[in-house]
Amino acid sequence: MAKYDVIIIGSGLGGLECGYILSRKGFHVCVLEQNSQIGGCLQTFRRGKASFDTGFHYVGGLEEGQSLHSLFRYFDLLDLPWQKMDEDGFSEVIIQGKSYLFPSGHERFADKMSEYFPHQRKQIADYTAFLKKVGENMMNSFVPGVKNDFTASTLLERSAYGFLQNGFDDPLLINVLSGASFTMELCAEKLPLYVFAQINNSFIQSAWRLKGGGSLIAEKLAGSIRSMGGEVRTNAKVTRLNEHNSLISSVCVNNEEEVAGKYVISSMHPALTLSLIPDTPNIRKIYRIRMENMANTHGLFTAHLQLKQNTIPYLNRNINIFNGTSPWNDVDERCSGTTAALVSFQTPESGSAYTSNIDILTPMLWQEVSPWANGRGTEYSAFKAQKADECVDLVSKRLPQLKENIERIYTSTPLTYRDYTGTYEGSAYGIRKDYSHLFYTLLSPQTQISNLWLTGQNLNLHGVLGVSMTSFFTCAKLVGMESLIKDLESG
Ligand SMILES: Cc1cc2nc3c(=O)[nH]c(=O)nc-3n(C[C@H](O)[C@H](O)[C@H](O)COP(=O)(O)OP(=O)(O)OC[C@H]3O[C@@H](n4cnc5c(N)ncnc54)[C@H](O)[C@@H]3O)c2cc1C
Repeated sequence: MAKYDVIIIGSGLGGLECGYILSRKGFHVCVLEQNSQIGGCLQTFRRGKASFDTGFHYVGGLEEGQSLHSLFRYFDLLDLPWQKMDEDGFSEVIIQGKSYLFPSGHERFADKMSEYFPHQRKQIADYTAFLKKVGENMMNSFVPGVKNDFTASTLLERSAYGFLQNGFDDPLLINVLSGASFTMELCAEKLPLYVFAQINNSFIQSAWRLKGGGSLIAEKLAGSIRSMGGEVRTNAKVTRLNEHNSLISSVCVNNEEEVAGKYVISSMHPALTLSLIPDTPNIRKIYRIRMENMANTHGLFTAHLQLKQNTIPYLNRNINIFNGTSPWNDVDERCSGTTAALVSFQTPESGSAYTSNIDILTPMLWQEVSPWANGRGTEYSAFKAQKADECVDLVSKRLPQLKENIERIYTSTPLTYRDYTGTYEGSAYGIRKDYSHLFYTLLSPQTQISNLWLTGQNLNLHGVLGVSMTSFFTCAKLVGMESLIKDLESG
């Protein structure tokens, strides 16, 4: 039986980063991935000359001193072909037919917003100064016990919507400031300020696309793990965790092979991880029930548009377009029609002035696709085609030449995510954080089995920034945070 120091379940960003950190610390790791392709939400698929991203489109804060820089320097990911998005407007938010640009840099951002909303100049300056401070104090989240207005624990207990409502008198300004974040599920009654502020701050610092797609991140991390002696295996679905003497002693792969390890890290959804462990007195029923009952964020529908050659000029910014007035919503209101779309342009690999493909993302609830959970057919295809048409119609208001220049449309729904990344009900960002139930919805990497830890977007903060931070929190359980911070500071 193969034996490793650490078995890691899942080769998404969280699994690969944990594999990288622990390999650097001298552990012999084995990352097990159920799919034929590594990367989870970082997977890219190719159709002809076009490469489409699935669950990753852009990151923020890659410049020196910014949120993601030291993390990506540590992971040796800074030399990938990152493309800085338009500093004069990395995002364009369109509400009630009017466009608002988000420039990079806190001061420039504040100046631009104040041009649009001169009567809120002071409030905008306070808001951007607040976001800046949140970013500057991000590393405090790594040090237990530090508590000030800008650390994770205090921000997690505050409502993002309440914060914006207290800060601004003009509801349109609140909607504009939130407009580039609607895919993160802007649920007024639940979203913690931490999630909203960390992510918005990192994008306002600087925004970046990756020429060639998110799979480059996964390939680079996997290559580094292998070069340090670790293994990354595909087509290796973990089907059971075997317990012996109160520890997980091995995992079963594809129901046939046993792989042993001293420690196990799972990046699967916590409820799904526990479902692979047969009944044992070491896992209390209440813990299992708690994980199973956690609410998850909604899913996303993506219309991947392959375009006719040299028809749509490449735009180095995202477009966020709204049909209604507010991107803030009650969770269940999302069902009604296509009211919002994020448009992401694929960076041309050839240096052409035109893009070969565009992704349009819009929220989608599990209930919308659950009728086809156990079998798809023509009705499902018709449903997807209808949704894609709605997305194209909405975006055509901003890009009138789009419709006639579409060569082909591919789609993905929450069902696709359930099947390709194993996310619970196709949720885009995993367990929903709720500022009023903080200790219920914020999870520690530690499980009730002492050599089994969790990692990935379900625990703390979703997205590339959040998952990278969480990888450190998880590995700190094995090697201590102090030594990891030293490594992080020295690069
Ligand atoms: C549509 C979409 C767009 C997004 N856009 C952005 C963006 O632009 N910027 C950003 O920062 N973030 C974005 N995100 C979020 C970001 O991609 C995720 O937060 C992050 O990649 C999640 O990483 P993870 O490792 O936690 O999970 P995942 O990527 O889901 O990885 C989990 C892995 O575990 C594997 N697995 C599951 N079960 C098993 C098993 N039994 N055995 C073996 N392997 C198993 C899965 O196949 C998968 O590879 C987006 C997400 C979505 C869905």
